[in-house]
Amino acid sequence: MVRPMQRSRSLKRVYRRTPGGKTVVHYERRKRTPMRCARCGTILFGVPTTDELRRSLPKSSKRPERIFGGFLCARCLREVLKQVVRESVSR
Ligand SMILES: [Zn+2]
Repeated sequence: MVRPMQRSRSLKRVYRRTPGGKTVVHYERRKRTPMRCARCGTILFGVPTTDELRRSLPKSSKRPERIFGGFLCARCLREVLKQVVRESVSR
């Protein structure tokens, strides 16, 4: 059985072939990746990149304080809102 800390999915599992031919599992820290827009995939501003900051900062500092802040970028939000309003007006 692996060590308890290695059961966590916060560590990435990397399969490595040893010189003896065995395949072993290495546990590595995941890369710090910036948060991305759910619609277009651009990097979101105003969202901390490190897990420590995401944990320690107050909630209002973790993402923009607007509707869908930290989920959609500003451009996508604008387009989505326009689309919703136009659909509601046309009915
Ligand atoms: Zn977007």
